[in-house]
Amino acid sequence: MALTATFAGKRVLVTGGALGIGRAIVDRLVQDNAIVTALDVNETALKELKQSLPKVNAIQCDVSKWADTKSIVKSIGPVDHLVNNAGIGKRHPLLKITEGDFNQTFDINVKAVINITQTVVQAMIADKIQGSIVNVSSVSSVRATKDLLLYSATKAALSNITKTMALELGRAGIRVNAVCPAPVDTPLMVGLAPTPEALPLMYSRNCIRRLIKPDEVADLVLFLLSDKAAMITGENVFIDAGYTTN
Ligand code: NAD
Repeated sequence: MALTATFAGKRVLVTGGALGIGRAIVDRLVQDNAIVTALDVNETALKELKQSLPKVNAIQCDVSKWADTKSIVKSIGPVDHLVNNAGIGKRHPLLKITEGDFNQTFDINVKAVINITQTVVQAMIADKIQGSIVNVSSVSSVRATKDLLLYSATKAALSNITKTMALELGRAGIRVNAVCPAPVDTPLMVGLAPTPEALPLMYSRNCIRRLIKPDEVADLVLFLLSDKAAMITGENVFIDAGYTTN
């Protein structure tokens, strides 16, 4: 399917856009001549993004900080599309979870999505923009993985948040979907493997026996953002190499 030029001149905000899946989404959008703003907390990765793609408006922002993030997103002005991609995934055995672990995971993976979407949608409605939003969820929204209780809980929440946002925003012509990848070859995933040799274990549930590439997730995100998905909303779309078939 040719998606080239679908995003020419469109304003797109991508959170966590400096590394991994977010960076692949930013790269694809820039190739399609979109006007891209990337928010990220990682200063080094942002510097590299600015050097390789100077047209991208790369802004340092810790999305877990409600008031700061809201004022940064307001200052960007209206956008046509939003990708809520920033997320953390750390191993937290139930018996060792602290309040700090809980707050950090939910603040980034859930609270920030609500805060940023609320701010973006207020501007969309004020400007009568019939935009679209993609949340980056995970197969963990529907599957249990050892020690991933907090992460999985946030992604399960995101599934319903996606549907409920779609319900609320459909009448304004704003679509909201989520993508649910199985393990993708990114710094987050490599960090979850206890050792590099253990990496194949991360995709041992896949029917197609390899990690998914960030570009492959980016393709799906761009499709769901685009007008080609005009009648798709409230969906959690799995890109999981068959992970959830068994
Ligand atoms: P990553 O760690 O490689 O990249 C995440 C990006 O988000 C980084 O640039 C990081 O700096 C940024 N970020 C983290 N916390 C932030 C904060 N507080 N404020 C702003 N930016 C912040 O991770 P990834 O694998 O590319 O993950 C991206 C999304 O995809 C996440 O929501 C993750 O849960 C989801 N996901 C990843 C996988 C996988 O296997 N990698 C699978 C399913 C879903």
